[in-house]
Amino acid sequence: MSGPSSSSTGTVPDTGTVTGTDNTRPDTATIWAWLDDVPDPEIPVISVVDLGIVRDVSWTEDERLLVTLTPTYSGCPATAVIALDVETALKQRGVEAVELRTQLAPPWTTDWLNDKGRDRLRAYGIAPPNPQGGVPDACPHCHSTRVSRVSQFGSTPCKAQWRCDSCLEPFDYFKCL
Ligand SMILES: [Zn+2]
Repeated sequence: MSGPSSSSTGTVPDTGTVTGTDNTRPDTATIWAWLDDVPDPEIPVISVVDLGIVRDVSWTEDERLLVTLTPTYSGCPATAVIALDVETALKQRGVEAVELRTQLAPPWTTDWLNDKGRDRLRAYGIAPPNPQGGVPDACPHCHSTRVSRVSQFGSTPCKAQWRCDSCLEPFDYFKCL
């Protein structure tokens, strides 16, 4: 009864895992690049870095990697997923000592979404948040400004359903502030 289970699932090949001495720590620019590969769980076309959730990356004196995260809004169900994804991504690349710190002030705003993220949202058919107010500035498909709201509620809490009155295509608007 004590034999190992002989399920031959095979081993997942390690990709990019850093094995070796503890002294080979990557610099923070490299860490930022890695985190830029971690997709937002709700809108996977943008990364958690695009979204502005990752506020700071630094090494502590005792060689731990401190990552500061600000959730998009308190109670956002994606927050716990993002924290886990960030930690997993770093550990997959060999950073074992990861400390995540949640910073609630200043609160996250859509202004923290970077230009790359805004472009990616548009390319994906989602109107990026409009700094001027709570309405999309244009249809992400045809760029018409004749748009109307269909529903306050989209496929996730951060999105609302809108429709373009020019091309008649529905689209999501990223509304969280
Ligand atoms: Zn349109």
